Amino acid sequence: MKRITKDDILMWLKATAKVLMENKNYLTDLDSPIGDADHGINMDRGFKKVMSILPSLDDKDISTILKTTGMSLVNTVGGASGPLYGTFFIEAGKAVVEKIYLSDDDLVSFIDCGLKGILNIGKARVGDKTMVDVIAPALEALKQAFANGKDTIEALHLMVDAAHKGMKDTIPMLAKRGRASYLGERSVGHQDPGATSSYLILRTAYETWDKKI
Ligand code: ADP
Ligand code: MG
Repeated sequence: MKRITKDDILMWLKATAKVLMENKNYLTDLDSPIGDADHGINMDRGFKKVMSILPSLDDKDISTILKTTGMSLVNTVGGASGPLYGTFFIEAGKAVVEKIYLSDDDLVSFIDCGLKGILNIGKARVGDKTMVDVIAPALEALKQAFANGKDTIEALHLMVDAAHKGMKDTIPMLAKRGRASYLGERSVGHQDPGATSSYLILRTAYETWDKKI
């Protein structure tokens, strides 16, 4: 079992900011046919703000770092994704109060509570063509992998595979939530931008903790 430390969390947040910056145009382009062409701009703005406050969080614990990250996303990101991702990090942070490191079980409850936060405020369900279509199957794959005795990194790899499939599965879906839902049938045939950013964020966790980046 790999113990996910505070430094691992900080490295993940920094790598995520970089990945979202690199994918700013890609995410915005995905948001163009089925949204208002701002998802990449929103995510980049939010994580740039998170980067600006990270130095002040150096002596804080994992839970505080995550909750503060969430608060700054809520406060800086306009659009649906700010409150949704903000809530994900706030609720994930609440799930790991006083933890010095995250065990496999902690990782599961981290994502589980984060997802529940998104479901609570966004009311989306699997199949509605949102970020939920990536995070929900990713969580299931992670749980399944641990139940099958996989180690942390193997389990995270399987989680990323499921997240990738979930992202691609949004293409034929008809959007039921968010701006894309206004398009009805015309939302079909496009990959959901929020599902794509969720995939990138989860993939970055795996790659950071496996020391691939
Ligand atoms: P906005 O739609 O307000 O412009 P963004 O473009 O930043 O905000 O984010 C759009 C993404 O937010 C969508 O691609 C979708 O994945 C996600 N989203 C929108 N509404 C919901 C919801 N109710 N529940 C979960 N995710 C949602
Ligand atoms: Mg948008």
